[in-house]
Amino acid sequence: MSEKTYEMLWDCQYCGTTKLLGKTHRFCPNCGAAQDPRSRYYPSEEDKVAVEDHTFVGVDVTCSVCNTLNNGDSHFCQNCGASLDENGEAVTKLESQTANAMGQFEEMGSRDIVKEEFNAEMQRIGAAPKAKNGLAQKAMNWRVIAFLVVAIVICGGIAFFMLRTEAQTVVVTGHSWERTVTLEEYVPFTARSWRDSPPSGYNIDLRPGSCTREQRGTRQVQDGETCNMVRSDNGDGTFSERRVCSPRYRSEPVYDDMCTWEGERYEVVDSYTTSGNNLQPFYQSLNVECEGVQRIGCEQQIFDGRYIIHLQAADESATYDCAVSEGEWATIADGDNFTMQVRVMDNSAGDCGSLEPVQ
Ligand SMILES: [Zn+2]
Ligand SMILES: [Zn+2]
Repeated sequence: MSEKTYEMLWDCQYCGTTKLLGKTHRFCPNCGAAQDPRSRYYPSEEDKVAVEDHTFVGVDVTCSVCNTLNNGDSHFCQNCGASLDENGEAVTKLESQTANAMGQFEEMGSRDIVKEEFNAEMQRIGAAPKAKNGLAQKAMNWRVIAFLVVAIVICGGIAFFMLRTEAQTVVVTGHSWERTVTLEEYVPFTARSWRDSPPSGYNIDLRPGSCTREQRGTRQVQDGETCNMVRSDNGDGTFSERRVCSPRYRSEPVYDDMCTWEGERYEVVDSYTTSGNNLQPFYQSLNVECEGVQRIGCEQQIFDGRYIIHLQAADESATYDCAVSEGEWATIADGDNFTMQVRVMDNSAGDCGSLEPVQ
């Protein structure tokens, strides 16, 4: 990657001489005034002056005692001898520029430092009432933030109190249950899916000749590079110009085989639910074709159940329904005592997971 170095340009703010060289002319050759690094600018294409064998020694430093520009590697001001480690201020670099599609940089001629400073000052003063506003705004922002913090703390506190629980004694008052049996039939089926993801089932086979090429997605493929010239201020009175390239991509369709599969699987025929408030749960009894045989037309049953115990606070102020395992459900008897975590502020909210039998 080739990189070339050129002189930044600057204009003398005292005698008005323009297009002085940033590195070569540390002082105005006309009036002797020290270079003001703030007046540096990128030259136009025709004003470019190359710097051969450029050695970068660091960003220039301005002596804050006498305002003289010094090289980045100096420790003492060449004009007044002040220590630059203490009084030096690195110059501000211009922003990098990227050339447009035509290879041209944004035009940047001489700069009018006085005007720039005046504008900056006007903005400061003109914004004086605004600045006050800004301050008020800041104070307001702080108030808003403080308010939010307080609100969050209060909400957190309220939530904490609202959600706080304590153990209470509860008594079992009843049982209920709900059971579902799902009838499934073993049937042949066909389905289309990608070759690498066959459907689930039994005896799955690809139907010969059924695959077709179809677009499955897209992929990003590198398609050359986009390159632009970029120039960046080195901060020592020079700037560097180099080509910066980044890969360019285009999206390309990705094809794959979409195929028809044949196989066998269980499919739901129907489901039947029974329920009750007693201790004798049962499933709907069904006529099942050749149950247990994995053959076309044969059926199987899938069983599922939910078992609830009903509880009441010892003082009868609230009731709770808790789902438990079938085994627990069957062994727990009406009248049994348990402890349960119950919300202090709202005792209708109980945590079934915290149920503990009272010994
Ligand atoms: Zn001058
Ligand atoms: Zn100095």
